Amino acid sequence: MDGDVRSIILDIEGTTTPVEFVYDVLFPHASEQSAVFLAQHWSDHGVQRDIAGLRDEHARDLATGLEPPAWEIAASPLEIMSIAAYVRWLISRDRKTTALKSLQGKIWRAGYEAGLLRAEIYDDVPPALDRWTRSGVQVGVFSSGSVLAQRLLFAHTTAGDLTVFLSNYFDTTIGSKFEVGSYRHISGALDEPAPAILFVSDVVAELDAAKTAGMKTTLCVRPGRLIDRGDHPAVATFDSICP
Ligand SMILES: [Mg+2]
Repeated sequence: MDGDVRSIILDIEGTTTPVEFVYDVLFPHASEQSAVFLAQHWSDHGVQRDIAGLRDEHARDLATGLEPPAWEIAASPLEIMSIAAYVRWLISRDRKTTALKSLQGKIWRAGYEAGLLRAEIYDDVPPALDRWTRSGVQVGVFSSGSVLAQRLLFAHTTAGDLTVFLSNYFDTTIGSKFEVGSYRHISGALDEPAPAILFVSDVVAELDAAKTAGMKTTLCVRPGRLIDRGDHPAVATFDSICP
């Protein structure tokens, strides 16, 4: 790596973590646990706020002609089951709305804390985080998952708690991963000029946006993933990203 890189920003899905963990473990867990979680945490203020957001989303879905599962009358015994059915319906459509993401984050936290979930991390990731931070490079994350979900994932990995290595977390509240402006915001938030930042991802379109913002880029190509490399340097593991 160039000696002038002072900050590394990592994508999660397909870069630090197998895509399968997100789609075969995390999302199914939120679907399966939603009814039990809502029943156990019904009176929590944050859960009620998420439910209010979901109720608005449900009304919008009906208004636009979609056919989500019916929302049963408030406080009726069937209401929780009907909300859980709606949550599963949203997850099956890969919705990324604020209320859904917020509720999913809470369900995942309960799952991680109960030991039901452990995040998969590629083997080369922990030693690289250690190596980079020892050499004075700051490491952060930019992912479409919420900052809460990012922190939970790195706090409960198969290799232990990796949050000690991470200084910054960015999600799409600062902008889409495909927009140049998002990477300019990250540069500003880190108080580093873009050329001092290396962005690592498995998606060429994200790297293109980061490069346009002036960042250095590296394409991470994990096993089983066939990717058009574009015009970015490519690596198979973090072992070859050395300060
Ligand atoms: Mg990715």
